[in-house]
Amino acid sequence: MKKKEEEMERPLLKAVLFDMDGVLFDSMKNHTLAWYETISGMGIVCERNEFYLYEGATGEWTINHIFRRVYGREATAEEIECIYAEKSRWFNELPLVEVMPGAKEVLEQVRELDLIPVVVTGSGQRSLLERLEREFPGVFVAERMVTAFDVRQGKPHPEPYLKGLEKAGVTAAEALVVENAPLGVQAAVAAGIFTVAVNTGPIPVEKLREAGAGVVLPGMPALADSFDDVVQLWRDGVFDRR
Ligand code: CA
Repeated sequence: MKKKEEEMERPLLKAVLFDMDGVLFDSMKNHTLAWYETISGMGIVCERNEFYLYEGATGEWTINHIFRRVYGREATAEEIECIYAEKSRWFNELPLVEVMPGAKEVLEQVRELDLIPVVVTGSGQRSLLERLEREFPGVFVAERMVTAFDVRQGKPHPEPYLKGLEKAGVTAAEALVVENAPLGVQAAVAAGIFTVAVNTGPIPVEKLREAGAGVVLPGMPALADSFDDVVQLWRDGVFDRR
């Protein structure tokens, strides 16, 4: 009897919230190169790989982070606008980004399980946002997308994921997040959501674990292959925290 009651108490997974860059699109190589070219072009010493660590944050956050380090101050609104425009120009000149291998297979499973797919991104890169509907027709619709234009606070603040829950009409205990960056994982965990990290870039696995990921997988094909197991881990993880 007790076991049956426990089973009944177990939450039901209703929605999966996907980060975009590095999860749905293999776009981080382009983003990091665009940032590197923009910032080093200003005569500032930086490394391309450091931009993987700022992934998920808004452009404003990244620019201020660099400015504090180099100039000991935040950037003005004008500087932010100008630098972000330059970064976008670089990004749009780079070869077209590919859909992340395994992403369509994961979304197919989401559809089969009748789960609600939501995109939660800090990106304001219109070229990629527009491609979501083209590459994943009928999956991601504007009403279920949270972008840089919807939030005041970027990741690692929980606001983007809280907005994502709101758009899906579910609670944190009914959702699962798929992220690839430490700041993104932090944001999802701060919103109270069990998070799967897919390590699609050069970030050390430890950074994703430290950020609070419930499980770390090597990429989206691995998530597609083990989706049922991940849902089980989600169920145990959410259940344990109650
Ligand atoms: Ca990402």
